[in-house]
Amino acid sequence: MNIKEVKKYLNYLKFKKFYKPKIKPCELCGSKNTKLLRRKISWNNNKFGILPVHCCTNCGFVFQNPRFNKEFYFNYYKKTYRDITLKTQIPPKIYLKDQKKRGEKLFKFLKQYLPKKGSMLDVGCSIGLMMKPFLKKKWKCQGNDPIKSYAEWGKNKYKLPVKWIQSEDMIIKNNSLDLIIIMGSIEHVVDLNLVMKKCEKGIKKNGILVLESRGDPLGHTKGFFNQSHHRYFFENTLQLIMIKYGFEPFLTTKYPITGPTRENTIFCLGRYKGKSVSKNFKKLITYGKKETCSDIEYKLKYHDYLSKINPGKLLLR
Ligand SMILES: [Zn+2]
Repeated sequence: MNIKEVKKYLNYLKFKKFYKPKIKPCELCGSKNTKLLRRKISWNNNKFGILPVHCCTNCGFVFQNPRFNKEFYFNYYKKTYRDITLKTQIPPKIYLKDQKKRGEKLFKFLKQYLPKKGSMLDVGCSIGLMMKPFLKKKWKCQGNDPIKSYAEWGKNKYKLPVKWIQSEDMIIKNNSLDLIIIMGSIEHVVDLNLVMKKCEKGIKKNGILVLESRGDPLGHTKGFFNQSHHRYFFENTLQLIMIKYGFEPFLTTKYPITGPTRENTIFCLGRYKGKSVSKNFKKLITYGKKETCSDIEYKLKYHDYLSKINPGKLLLR
């Protein structure tokens, strides 16, 4: 991105301060070899602009590159994000109802893997309503979110244990958590590795991590890549990020664990085993637990093709 392109984007966000984005190595495997996948992506609200997305040629991880610093994203999520995505800082009723429902469904599904009572963390919890069923069963809960109005809504209106902070700044007691959930937030965090490191330190041996990510494109890929998603996980990369931090993935599924309102999301559940799992991370990639950039390009082409030949049918998927 040249200076003129950066300025145009910052101008769109109504940011007065200038931030210079930097080229980063692959967040998953650390390789510096990446291939440009898309230069122009959605800036939301039918506006498209330059914000390049790359694919790592070593592991197939797809991520925005270059990237801005933590302060930029702090300001972006604090307010701009909701102004752009929902055009209001007040959480819509339907959104609140959905989050509550998703929490109930998640609790019901996870029960089989969890102790009756324990300690949990919700990273990027939004209002925090997904923690409600756990609180009801006397779980010790904590959540965090960078959207100021939403975190405060949860704290003040629902008395939920939500902190308005970036997950990079969360303080977790070592070896204290039975469950960590990151539901649709893993694509938004600023520093993926820092957040995962904190989760690794906080989880107990055999504790559970639940990751929910957006998954495959739903419709034409023109709208799939957008400014708020700093990275894109598919089944393989979700499992790899678990393995990198010592979690053994035991269930990866597109089954709608949290109900039908988040179409196409993928869930990955892992159990913390520590070094016995993470020591294999790089070898696994070398021996084939990866996607190539061609795999990714074909996947995108396939979804564009589907949306072209049968748009109606695709919406129902
Ligand atoms: Zn990589």
